[in-house]
This record gives sequence, C-alpha cells and structure tokens, in this order.
Amino acid sequence: MKRTPIHKALTTLLLSAGLGLASLGSATATEPIWDGNKVQMQSEKLSDGVFAYYASDARELNARGGAAATSGGLIVGSKGALLIETMLNKRMNQQVQDLSRKLGGKPLIYAVNTSAHGDHSFGNMFLPASTRIVQHANTRTYIDKHLSDDKAFMIKNFGTGRGIEEIKARTGDILVAPMATVSLDLGGKVVDVIDFGFAQTGGDLWVWEPQSKVMWAGNPLIAAKPALPWLLDGHLVATLDTLQRVYAFLPADARIIPGHGVAMTREDMKWHIDYLAAVQKNVQAAVDKGLTLEQTVAQTTMPEFGGYALFGWVHPGLNVPAAYRDLSKK
Ligand SMILES: [Zn+2]
Repeated sequence: MKRTPIHKALTTLLLSAGLGLASLGSATATEPIWDGNKVQMQSEKLSDGVFAYYASDARELNARGGAAATSGGLIVGSKGALLIETMLNKRMNQQVQDLSRKLGGKPLIYAVNTSAHGDHSFGNMFLPASTRIVQHANTRTYIDKHLSDDKAFMIKNFGTGRGIEEIKARTGDILVAPMATVSLDLGGKVVDVIDFGFAQTGGDLWVWEPQSKVMWAGNPLIAAKPALPWLLDGHLVATLDTLQRVYAFLPADARIIPGHGVAMTREDMKWHIDYLAAVQKNVQAAVDKGLTLEQTVAQTTMPEFGGYALFGWVHPGLNVPAAYRDLSKK
C-alpha cells in the first residue's frame, strides 16, 4: 500500500498515543477511536435555518480533551439546503440526512467536504444524485489518487464492519480553486465556501454563513481548548498564517463549528494560534542554535499547552518535528 504522509503520521499517532484504548497498540487492533456504528449525531440550532451537527458526547469529550466524532451542519434557504460534512459511513450519513429532513424539509442542493479525510467525505455516495458536492480542487485530486489507501487506513483505525469497505468515490461537482471563494445562493442565504490557505491538508475549506456569523472550520480547528492543531502534513508557518487570516476575517461575535467538537468562539481560536506561534518561536530558537531534531523535541516541552488527551503524542511526536522540518529548510 502506498503511504501518504498523513497515513504515516496518523498510524504513528494511533499506535503510540493509544487514545486511551489499549488495544490500538496491538497488532490486532480493532477498537476504533470512536465507533461509526455507535455515534449518535444531534443538532443544535444556531440561528433560523442554521444548525450545527455533532456527536451526542462531543461536549463532554471536548471538555476533557478526548476524541469526538466529526461535526458538521446544515444551512437552509428558501430554495434548498447545504450540508456540511457527509460523515464516515452510510449510517452516520443517514443520521445527518434524517436530521436535515426534520430541520429543513428542503432538498440538499449542496454538500461541502471541508477536507478529503474520510470522516468528512466518505458519505458523499449516499446523498441524492441531485446534490452537488463541493470540494477543494486539491481534495478532488487527492481522492482520485488515494481513495483505496484511505479506505484501508480508515478501516485499520476505525474498525472493520463500520461501513467503510463499501465506500466508493464521489468527488466534487463544484471545485474551489486555491485561495478562491465560491458563493452558493440557497435563497435568502448566500453561503461562502472559502480557501484561506494551507490549514491542514492543502485542500481545506471553510464554510461561512454571514447572517448568523457562523463558520465551519473542519479539522484545522479540531475543538476548543485543550485540543491542539495536528500538523499532519507539516507547514507550521503556512498553517499559522491561515489561522491568523481566519481570525482577522471573523467578527468578534462569530461562532465556529470545529471539525470534532461543539461551537466555539473567535477568541477560542487564540489558544490554537498562540500555541502555533509559541511552537514557531521555540523551534526557531532551537534551529538558530543548531540543535538536532531530538534536542529540539527534548527542550520544547511547552507544558502550558498541556491538557489535551493527545498532547503527549501530538506535540512532541507530530507538531514539533513538523515545525523543525519547516523552519530548518534552507
Ligand atoms: Zn476529522
């Protein structure tokens, strides 16, 4: 199987962090991070026709820095509705379609994938043929090349028998070009789907509903503090720039639906921005002193950003090495 950087990073993560599930570390790991056969999606009304979707245990998991299932949402206009994230499998996709029928009663004319990650995009194939899929151009390219690798990877980490085996690619009908915005008119509501720059995968889309001032972030913001960014594909500096650009874009009273959590505020972004800025400062100082990667990891402990259940891996095992590679480039 051809491995992409994200696969290597995540496999290392899952094998070393264990996420509190001891069996993940064994060769016969079958216990998923969260179980696509058990997650119950619920909705929260944010404004008229604007809803967040998240797992029923997301609030509690977020509070203790645990790993919650994928969050998404629905925006309903007079002409039809837009779904954000199509979920991991048929079961979860049907849950969000059922919620959407109850809440909007309008046909899903668009569905947005904020990235190529399977838990955000595998459900595309279960949507009506009339629903138009919106993706970043890079996401479509990625899925065209890597779907079978991704399925194998996701089965390994989310378990067999979770509906991943049957997934077939259904890629974007509407593609967002790098740094572009696509505006979608739902009737009385115009939704902007925006690429603010590299944020985690290079195909990262943000969904902005200006009337209610709600932004869907996808995985560049996993959840509010104590969760931290995962620099799965590196690019510390670009990721920090992008988060600062999003922060500057948002009004002070905006609400943000993160990739794996409940609604957070614009100020909650500061935790993530401050963390990446501190990583940059500390790792740059180490690079300037000529330290090796191992020495840099050993001295860049940053316990003030602890509290995330995955801190012990995501900081020294993923983010500091990613920053070191980024900052030591000539
Ligand atoms: Zn995700």
